[in-house]
Amino acid sequence: MNQEAQNLHFSRNVPPILEQVQSYFNSLRVTAAEAEVFYFYYQGMDWYNEMGSATRDWIMAADDWVWHKGKHKLFEGGEKRLYTCKYCGTNNTSLANLTSMDCYRHPSGSNKGKHAPAL
Ligand SMILES: [Zn+2]
Repeated sequence: MNQEAQNLHFSRNVPPILEQVQSYFNSLRVTAAEAEVFYFYYQGMDWYNEMGSATRDWIMAADDWVWHKGKHKLFEGGEKRLYTCKYCGTNNTSLANLTSMDCYRHPSGSNKGKHAPAL
């Protein structure tokens, strides 16, 4: 983490608020649009990563996200036109909308969680 980011004095606890994520990404010279993709992606996963373990420190997850930039199909220099839920196949043009809706094929049970975007 760089000096500038440390000076922002964020709580690293999960979940962060979108504004925190955006200012942190901004300090890493990453766009607010990508910060949103990161935020809504993890919101949709309930802050669990793809391996199924809980994220305890969102700054670490953000660093990891930025480090692996380019490997993400979710964000390739611009938002995708269509996001697909990996559990039920529901499509939505907005990642924020997709991850705010209950998923009827969620692994925790029908409508027990939100849609999760496929990478
Ligand atoms: Zn779904």
